[in-house]
Amino acid sequence: MSSRLVLVINCGSSSIKFAVREEDTSQPLLSGLAERLGTPQATLEWRLGDHKHEEPLGEADHTQAMARLLPLIGEHTSQPLAAVGHRVVHGGEHFTGARLIDDEVIAAIDASAPLAPLHNPANLTGIRAAMELLPDVQQVAIFDTAFHQSMPAHAYRYALPDDLYAVHGVRRYGFHGTSHQYVTNQASLLTGRQFGHGAWLSAHLGNGCSSCAVLDGKSLDTSMGLTPLEGLVMGTRSGDVDPNLHAHLARTLGWDLPRIEQLLNRESGLLGLSGLSNDMRQLEQAREDGHHGAHLAIEVFCYRLARSLAGLAVALPRLDGLIFTGGIGENSALVRALTLRHLAILGLHIDPDANSRLPRGQAGAVHRSGSPAILVIPTDEERQIADESLSLIDQLRNQS
Ligand code: AMP
Repeated sequence: MSSRLVLVINCGSSSIKFAVREEDTSQPLLSGLAERLGTPQATLEWRLGDHKHEEPLGEADHTQAMARLLPLIGEHTSQPLAAVGHRVVHGGEHFTGARLIDDEVIAAIDASAPLAPLHNPANLTGIRAAMELLPDVQQVAIFDTAFHQSMPAHAYRYALPDDLYAVHGVRRYGFHGTSHQYVTNQASLLTGRQFGHGAWLSAHLGNGCSSCAVLDGKSLDTSMGLTPLEGLVMGTRSGDVDPNLHAHLARTLGWDLPRIEQLLNRESGLLGLSGLSNDMRQLEQAREDGHHGAHLAIEVFCYRLARSLAGLAVALPRLDGLIFTGGIGENSALVRALTLRHLAILGLHIDPDANSRLPRGQAGAVHRSGSPAILVIPTDEERQIADESLSLIDQLRNQS
């Protein structure tokens, strides 16, 4: 059978990120980004091999942008798409895995929109546009939350009155599921285990950051909660703060909810602590130049990450290894080294030479002998979405 093609789509409120992935290959055939949709500055940027192209899109909306990029895909591929895989941020408790999109799935994504008001409606816009333009191709939804549906109640429940959970769905959901699943599967292969096996701590450190405890392919606990604000220090998000902070700011400064949400989601994290930037590259440089805020931001980031990982370790029966991924986890030897300074309690010991010598963008082991594995694994959420889309289609075909 020739290698099948999947179009992977990640729709934001004014953007569409897309990639055509070929089964069993590590690089996209074609990838790109349509952004500033709905404004006169809308553009489509795409990359084919080493060639990069950019074109204006007028004032295109999502459907119009999709109508432009689909023929583009047709021009550069030799066979029809086997599936379209849509990244969907919040699946609530409805979904434990990939689902073929039908009216019922669309209604459930819509029903979870109050839990992800910025993301789910945008994801649905992309789904509707793709269904309209590609009515004969199977469309699959892959949920950021689905991987974490295996968490036990003692990990996902908040200590709040039961009605808030039972009636209003207030619980911990977790995010970055495709990334944690992908890197822990890769970790099993890298360490010679059966695919998906092993007891792992995974740290996805990008602009958004989360940690996760995974046993034999199942998430047992994770740092993000009802929304992606809970847990680790992130680029501009605070992560955990005292839940009374809202009331304190309202009472003492007279701030309303939108102002507080803006503070916690857009002005905090590395940016807030450093007073300089949310970008780890820039902070590392500033730290070297003696910038106090950058130094503090990186220290807090690493300490809070280590504290989260040590906490998550209680979910596992043993520890086979720790995985770093995401833009920071894959590229920052400094963050890895500073985080590991706090994790000797778990028997984890980093090899400083291996850590600093690991080429950027490459998977590798950076632990000393005798330590559980410490692995750097570039994440590939698009690969995971393409693989899950194809295996769902195969599964459904075998059932029929
Ligand atoms: P992501 O959201 O996964 O693209 O990750 C973005 C984060 O990765 C930003 O904070 C970047 O500064 C950080 N990052 C990317 N490359 C490097 C690098 N070479 N060293 C340190 N941080 C990096």
